[in-house]
Amino acid sequence: MRLCCDVDLVNRLLPEMNMKKKRNTARAQLSIGKKPGSHLKDGTLFLMLCTAKDRNGAKYLIKGNVEQVFVRFVDEGKATIRFKNPQQDICINKADPVQLKCFLSVLRQAVQGKELDRLKLSVLAPASTKNVEKPKSKLCILHRKDYPLTTNFPGSLEQLQISQCRLKRIDSRIFQLKKLEILDLSENVLETISEEISNLKQLKQLILNHNQFVTFPKNICMMFHLQQCIGYLDFSDNGIVELPNHLCELKNLVTLKIDNNNLCSLPPTFGRLRRLKFFSASNNRIQILPAGFARLRLETVDLSGNPFEIADKPKYPTEIMESPDLEEICARAIRKMRVPYNEDVLLLSLCKYLDAARQCLCGTFCFRCSIRYTSLINLTVISTTVTAIDNSGRKCVPIEAFHCSTKCLARCQNSGHLYG
Ligand SMILES: [Zn+2]
Repeated sequence: MRLCCDVDLVNRLLPEMNMKKKRNTARAQLSIGKKPGSHLKDGTLFLMLCTAKDRNGAKYLIKGNVEQVFVRFVDEGKATIRFKNPQQDICINKADPVQLKCFLSVLRQAVQGKELDRLKLSVLAPASTKNVEKPKSKLCILHRKDYPLTTNFPGSLEQLQISQCRLKRIDSRIFQLKKLEILDLSENVLETISEEISNLKQLKQLILNHNQFVTFPKNICMMFHLQQCIGYLDFSDNGIVELPNHLCELKNLVTLKIDNNNLCSLPPTFGRLRRLKFFSASNNRIQILPAGFARLRLETVDLSGNPFEIADKPKYPTEIMESPDLEEICARAIRKMRVPYNEDVLLLSLCKYLDAARQCLCGTFCFRCSIRYTSLINLTVISTTVTAIDNSGRKCVPIEAFHCSTKCLARCQNSGHLYG
């Protein structure tokens, strides 16, 4: 009976002697069995603790020697076994909960001296290096020749970087890495991401700069798990022309880097990225920002190298409002009632039309039939640190708002707010 886990060995005598020992967690193999060389009929069972430092292991007598077993957090892979002699606690952590329960059940039977014959426990043997090595959590591959072709990626990986390997697609083995938190595939030739990325339920950082994305991989924003956990996205140095409206579904996005792409605008819903703190979109083709941008509260913002249209005075609306036609009325209703739509049920052009809705400050969605109103905002109002947008040190950028009616426009002009 064996169990691989992290172990903290606590000597209970040390506090009594006013001594403190720093916690020292080690990867370990725990096993229950007989001592090697013991007589067949001698059923004395021991618990053996093997670590990388002591592969031959320390043995603890079980019967009459286990004072208590703490199992409150067994479902989280944690438990503590308290021995009488020596006065030590073996604190188990990061064990597989199912295996841990099984191990503790065998231990319980051994403590009670029950059915020992049926346990069929083997003789205690030193742990193999593999079992007491710390599971690999980080892997960095920077040359094509180091790319694993015949071996698998270690299942324990939390960080994986594969750069400069001319990857055209993401290896499906990567999507099996359940613990992966940081995936860095910068400096490859990727153009798309498969939907399997939603298997990475712990993914917090996705780094894809210097690739060949032309469209932003919308599926990142559509998967529930990714919407909840992604906090860092780096798509700098690609050829992306547009960000999807669905980007605002990434509720916990803190950092977005999208410098050196071909963006002409930001989606109207951009202001809904409430957690966003670090935003850079330098060297794109953005001429004007959506009004909702003024709602953000950032730490740093860099919008330098964009061809913003900067007039000294805000431009007032020149467009004349027409009466809404049938298409406008239908589209407004679909967005208002949150009718779900996608490319399976509607023409792609209609989906794009619906995606391009502009929201008036009153909440109404409008399309062609709207009044555009532009103004300037000073980026220092919404961000602690601001990179000037041009060489002359300007920090003001134009923003545009759309209104559903002349009534809403008047309200906006009176209040000075461009957004609801
Ligand atoms: Zn309105």
